[in-house]
Amino acid sequence: MTNTIKERIEALEDESLASYAVHSQDSYGRKYNEDVSAIRSDFQRDRDRIIHSTAFRRLEYKTQVFLNHEGDHYRTRLTHTIEVVQVARTIAKVLCLNETLAEAIALAHDIGHTAFGHAGEDVLDQIMKSYGGFDHNFHGFRIVSLLEKRYPDFDGLNLTWEVREGFMKHKKTFQRAKAIDSDFNEQCPFLSLEAQVANIADEITYDTHDIDDGIRAGLISMESLSEVPMWSRIANRLKGAVNDKEIWRSMSLRVLMNELITGLIRHSTDRIKKSQVTSVAEVRKWKEPLVSFDDDIENDRMILKEFLVDNVYNHPKVYQITQKAKETLSTLFSIYLHDPQKLPDHVSGEINKNSKKELYQAICDYIAGMTDRYADKEYRRWGP
Ligand code: MG
Repeated sequence: MTNTIKERIEALEDESLASYAVHSQDSYGRKYNEDVSAIRSDFQRDRDRIIHSTAFRRLEYKTQVFLNHEGDHYRTRLTHTIEVVQVARTIAKVLCLNETLAEAIALAHDIGHTAFGHAGEDVLDQIMKSYGGFDHNFHGFRIVSLLEKRYPDFDGLNLTWEVREGFMKHKKTFQRAKAIDSDFNEQCPFLSLEAQVANIADEITYDTHDIDDGIRAGLISMESLSEVPMWSRIANRLKGAVNDKEIWRSMSLRVLMNELITGLIRHSTDRIKKSQVTSVAEVRKWKEPLVSFDDDIENDRMILKEFLVDNVYNHPKVYQITQKAKETLSTLFSIYLHDPQKLPDHVSGEINKNSKKELYQAICDYIAGMTDRYADKEYRRWGP
């Protein structure tokens, strides 16, 4: 009998992936049974479902750090996500992990973010305090499990357990997920290696591109970065090689990213080998995460992160924008709360009018889904 393409993909995985990688045929599967695809593995299918979702398309108009409409060259949530995917795939492939699973997790990793970056998340978290708060990881889980409406037989995207595991970055997220979906009944201390890779790929990506965007915005300079040892080592090494400042910056960023990726691969390979784990179950129960940097790189990274916090994320220019964004979203929330008629029918029609909790949750979901420009438009429409 001829094998389907899916079966051939699964056989190839068995040949090429490590025993501690997640093999797609060993997936815990989907909540709702569906016909299997003849031409795609389950994780390929999940990857495609995420790309075709509404929440994913909205990432194009959501802020990463610098406001979406401020300039055409800053990262948006979407371009940030694409960079994370690329980094995650590279690392997963070298470590003989499931590249497609790492790709799917990376594609979905920021799908739960609000408009206006972390400012939006802080506002909703504050307002939703009595109802469990707001966290973009848990919200991402809710989007793929409940909020996307694309299929006649179920809510959400019905992704495999392993892709949804990618949202469980904190214990609290797991507990909240468990409360709405009993498939998340057994908490493991750590995530699959593919999910660990996607998490660190996110950090490598934003640490690097926030330097680039920070310089572009004029908040930091090549000179001010000299207090960051990891950066100055690389930049000084390259300084004589080119005269053009822009090219020097690009080269330095490229080398920085490469050093972080290769350093991560080197140390993680070593740790995985020493741990002698042979299965995903052992990875999830191991005493610590296995994908990590050595102490030297970790220390260097912490100094870089502190520099970015002090000089980029907390820069008065960014802070001012953040305050405006907070005002926009909190004003919108109270407008909808006092006059739910202003909510669109697809939102207001679903709410039990006697439940304050349902009203809060519906408004929160609606606002969390907004892009920067849609939130601004709604604010101009209903605001003071
Ligand atoms: Mg991210």
